[in-house]
Amino acid sequence: MEIGGLQKTTLIDFPGRIAATIFLCGCNFRCPFCYSGELVLPEKIKKQPKILEKDFFDFLKERKGLLEGVVLCGGEPTIHRELSDFCRKIKALGFLIKLDTNGSNPAVLKEIIEDELLDYVAMDIKAPKEKYDFFSGAKLVKKVEESINILKESQLDYEFRTTVAPGLKQEDIFSLSEWIAGKGVNYFLQEFNSQKEVLNPDILNLPVLKKEELEEIIRKIRPKFKTCYLR
Ligand code: SF4
Repeated sequence: MEIGGLQKTTLIDFPGRIAATIFLCGCNFRCPFCYSGELVLPEKIKKQPKILEKDFFDFLKERKGLLEGVVLCGGEPTIHRELSDFCRKIKALGFLIKLDTNGSNPAVLKEIIEDELLDYVAMDIKAPKEKYDFFSGAKLVKKVEESINILKESQLDYEFRTTVAPGLKQEDIFSLSEWIAGKGVNYFLQEFNSQKEVLNPDILNLPVLKKEELEEIIRKIRPKFKTCYLR
């Protein structure tokens, strides 16, 4: 497992838990608004300092009783064949696991849910179906849809979340909210941070919805969900 970063403590990434976050290298999407080029682009990954798996597990052993969980973040964790074994090792040390995913590998997601290796999943919804290819830089929307359904049918705690990228319009959020709606669904909108470097700077020329507009959208879509708010 190629580990490109470790945040030793987070109080906000794993709902209700004190956790550490690890950043795994590699991603099968190329979202134009992505802030994590060093974990996505092979030429940048090469230059990114790596953390040895052994050092990560030594760190976890030292933190037993202090941390409750581990957040697996990317890049995209589900592209790694060793993910399941990696989760098993974390679980064996007594930690809870949250997975952050782009939802592009429903078979892997289903397997690790069925093997009871996950405690929480946060899945990105990049855009409405009809614009998914543009906002993900990939052609995997059918896989994403399968993952949406797997999570909805699971007994697991999960959330869907959308970073409101430049170019996403009010009607896009309405359209995607219809797509993912459900009385058991937690859904969050996240403001785009225009200060960070992105994969495709051309996207910065597109208009970004303002905070007041997002709050107005949330008021309208909230009844479709269990919870829905702006982060
Ligand atoms: S899914 Fe998109 S935003 Fe997330 S790491 Fe991959 S390219 Fe970046």
